[in-house]
Amino acid sequence: MTYIIAEPCVDVKDAACVDVCPVDCIYTTDEDNMFFINPDECIDCAACEPVCPVVAIFPEDTVPEEWAEYIDMNYDYFKDRDLSTLKRSL
Ligand code: SF4
Ligand code: SF4
Repeated sequence: MTYIIAEPCVDVKDAACVDVCPVDCIYTTDEDNMFFINPDECIDCAACEPVCPVVAIFPEDTVPEEWAEYIDMNYDYFKDRDLSTLKRSL
């Protein structure tokens, strides 16, 4: 399992979750309007969930139906991606 970032992060992107993630698996670029969690690196520790000011982070199996598309968006974001090209901070 992994945690997923959904729509409330869009244009908020304050990186509070990034600061608490013990494995640094939350990424973005300057061009993206939100952060994404790498499902291959997330250890399901739940540390990020309570610190998000807009409640954008959910365990994969409890993502609200209206934001279900964000599950694929998080997975797809990392497909064939060189992690070294991504940022873990603002
Ligand atoms: S659940 Fe833990 S490991 Fe996964 S993104 Fe959140 S803080 Fe990082
Ligand atoms: S804490 Fe929430 S709003 Fe802030 S970057 Fe993380 S997911 Fe986005």
